[in-house]
Amino acid sequence: MIEVSGLRKEYGDFVAVENLSFSIAKGQIFGIVGPNGAGKTTTLKMLGGLIKPSRGDISMKGLDMFRDSVEIKSFLGFLPEESPLYEGMSVNDYLMFFAELYDIDKGVAKKRISDLLFDLSLNADGKKIGDLSKGMKRKVAIARSLINDPDILIYDEPASGLDPMTSRYITDYVRSLKKEGKTIIFTAHNLYQVESLCDNILILKNGQKIIQGTADHIREEYGKIQYRLEFRVDDIGDYDLADVTQADDAYVVITDDIDVVNNTTKWVASRGGDIVEMRTIVPSLEDIFLSIMGVELFAE
Ligand code: ADP
Repeated sequence: MIEVSGLRKEYGDFVAVENLSFSIAKGQIFGIVGPNGAGKTTTLKMLGGLIKPSRGDISMKGLDMFRDSVEIKSFLGFLPEESPLYEGMSVNDYLMFFAELYDIDKGVAKKRISDLLFDLSLNADGKKIGDLSKGMKRKVAIARSLINDPDILIYDEPASGLDPMTSRYITDYVRSLKKEGKTIIFTAHNLYQVESLCDNILILKNGQKIIQGTADHIREEYGKIQYRLEFRVDDIGDYDLADVTQADDAYVVITDDIDVVNNTTKWVASRGGDIVEMRTIVPSLEDIFLSIMGVELFAE
């Protein structure tokens, strides 16, 4: 559906995105994450046909982004990180204005606008855009990105900087767009949101791909599963299988080595002790992201 190969963007001498390749299947939610300056917005702008790559190719539905840009733009919806809106216009007039730019029949546009306002639970009652809250303005920008009923959506930080309820609403709305069969590419800072929403995640750092795949794949590659074993025994004396700490009246071992777990269990049994609890500690995407970015993780 979307193929990106060897993408590179230079700003003067500075390389913002380097040798980026990935594919996105129809109906997927594809999340791009990375620290500030990683090249996320630059990548989205190239995918949206707003800036030209210095090198590399982008194709969507078999069409070339630059040769067939008019056709591609007819099925793309782009939501910039900051969307300047016409503050003096009413929401309806504003959306109708964009529908006209897309040459959409007036009757079809009216129905689409009223459906979008309903779906986004955006009750603006003829208010001017300038009088709306930040969350409502973001919803107007989202409605605008959907006015041409696009099947590929490119959203830069759709839910960031909003109150938790609106942010949650927009996340759920993005999920419902996927159910309609739309393909969505977005960037976000909230990694829990990314993990819960995305079929495919691309982690960027300094303009380069660090890893791409499902959250499970990223976990397999980067995240060590650890085991936490808690046991009681009268005398810890000759235990030397791993580091052990004392917690209340029990001992705790945390290890990524399953053999240590098995041997400790046997050792506890041989000393007539009890296993209080055995559980797996699965790292979150955030833990993995921070460790990739070189930030020390907090030890348990
Ligand atoms: P992100 O969205 O991940 O924060 P950006 O794609 O906005 O990153 O920026 C990537 C790098 O490219 C940054 O170092 C930024 O300063 C630089 N950059 C972005 N746009 C321009 C531009 N128009 N001119 C020069 N440098 C730019």
